[in-house]
Parts: sequence; C-alpha cells; structure tokens
Amino acid sequence: MEELIRKIPKAELHIHIEGSFEPELMFEIAKRNQVSIPYKSVDDLRKAYNFNNLQEFLDIYYAGANALQNEADFYDLTYAYMLKAAEQNILHTEIFFDPQTHTERGIRFETVLSGICHALEDSRKNLGVSSNLIVCILRHLSAVSGMETLEMAIRHKDKIIGIGLDSSEVGHPPVKFAEVYKRAKEEGFVLVAHAGEEGPPEFVWEALNVLQIDRLDHGNRSLEDESLVAELVKRNIALTVCPLSNYKLAVVKDLTKHPLKLMLDKGMFATINSDDPAYFGGYLNENYQAMYRNLNLSKEEIIRLAKNSFLASFLPEAKKQRYLNLIDEIAG
Ligand SMILES: [Zn+2]
Repeated sequence: MEELIRKIPKAELHIHIEGSFEPELMFEIAKRNQVSIPYKSVDDLRKAYNFNNLQEFLDIYYAGANALQNEADFYDLTYAYMLKAAEQNILHTEIFFDPQTHTERGIRFETVLSGICHALEDSRKNLGVSSNLIVCILRHLSAVSGMETLEMAIRHKDKIIGIGLDSSEVGHPPVKFAEVYKRAKEEGFVLVAHAGEEGPPEFVWEALNVLQIDRLDHGNRSLEDESLVAELVKRNIALTVCPLSNYKLAVVKDLTKHPLKLMLDKGMFATINSDDPAYFGGYLNENYQAMYRNLNLSKEEIIRLAKNSFLASFLPEAKKQRYLNLIDEIAG
C-alpha cells in the first residue's frame, strides 16, 4: 500500500507556499539577503520547527517570511516545493499564497507574484507538474485590506484563478469578507475559504451561503451538524482535509480518531492535503501514509482519495478525465 501511495498520481489542493519553507532554504535566503533571523544554524532553526503551540509556529513562520525579499526568493521557495511535488507524483497543484504577509512589510505584490509564476511555468516545462494559483486573504486583517488585495489580484487575472481566506479563524467569521467575495465572484474568480477548522459549523454555513464558495478548506467541524453534512453532500462541495496539520495544531488529538474515514463513509467529497508541510511534519505522501496507517484505509479508499483530488480541482473536465484514467492504469 505504501508503494501504491507513492506511485499513484495525485493533486494537491491545499498548500500554502510560504508553509513549504524548509530550514535549509530559509537559512540560505536569509544569508544572501543579509536578513538576520534569530537562529544560529540550520540545526538550530530545525529545532525551532518543532514548535509546541500556535504562537511558536507563528514566530517561526513570520521570521521565515521576513527573509523573502526579492523575486528570486519567491522563485526558489516555489520551485523547491514543485520539485518535492514531482518526487511525490503530484501531477497538479493549486497553490495558495498570502500577499498581505509580504505587502504589509513593503514587498510589492508583483515581486511575489512574478517569482511564484516563473517557478510554476518552469515546473510545467521541466517537471510536468501543472498548477493554478489562489490568492489567500488574511482574515485577521481588515475587510478593507482584503479588498485592496483582491483589487491587486484582479489586475493579474491571467495568472490567478481564485481567492481564499486563511489565518486565525476564531473571531473572524466569513461574513466579514462578504463584499470581497461578492466582488471576486463578479470578476469570475473561483472561491474557496478555510472554515470549520477551529471555527464552528456556522462558519461553514456562512462560507457556503454568504461567500458562495466552490470548495471548502478543512471543514472538520462540519461533522458536528448533520444538516450541514447533508448540504455539503447534496451540493457536492469538496473538502481539502489536512491530517498532519490537524494533528500538529491539535484540531485532532489522536490520528486514529481523525474524521477523514467518517467523512468518506458519509459520502462527503474529501481530499488529502499537506497545508504547511515544512512545519507540520510531512508533504502529501506522508499525509496519505499517516491516514492509511492510523485509519486502516483500504486500497479502494486510497484510490478514491486520489481521484477526488483531481475531481475537486479547478482543471477543465477533459484534463480531469485524463488523470482519472491514469490512476486506473497505475492502480489497476
Ligand atoms: Zn491552510
């Protein structure tokens, strides 16, 4: 089964590119930009990646983001993830980036975008991994700042497929960004949002009915509301579930009790993803392995999850079908 997980074609739909920043690369980029980070060596930095709580995670996350200054830095960050994706048989990925993490400290939106897009183009050519790009709005910042970020994204609609909503959920309900999502929809963007990770099922209802999302990020707490589960199934809304992230951030205390299998049993459209893989203890295959080992997933369930990842993507139908056929060929 571990072999099947490695070789089966997969898509990854919930990956924050800033969350794929490995200690070696962070150290190297900080050094070349002469940005000081409060760690003496790669080992020292790696130890800090073993954070114990949300604040420690945020400390290291922002220290890392500070090192990113130039287009080449965003290129290197993105290309490093795409190499990892190719190695794990991820054939398509839909990447989040957080422009406000960078524009707030004076880096231009275009610098960030250009570095990421060049790396994605090169990955398409050199590695055969396709991709879509999604701008994430930081929900702990104001709706005005969110709207400004959307306006920047609109100017680059040829490179950006949609918008999402991330960062601390509690205290920042989806409705806060109703206007931003309304405008994004008018502009033809696809819409996703983090909801029901720490926040209550009501936040998922809001994401569905007010923001009118096309896909739900996390959504674990939907299971607390049977009518919400029924609605998600009826509308065929995909959930981008992130098992190791859930464990590391204590959304789930014990991986053997992770709700992924329950979601599948209830007919929910679940997918597996890595979220912030450099920080949460594994990339996509490690997340599949963890679920296989802890939930005793069957071969059929692994195949279904891999198929769901393409079905839930924003790829054109014909491309989805090609990937599904490839899964059948390989998984036989
Ligand atoms: Zn996330």
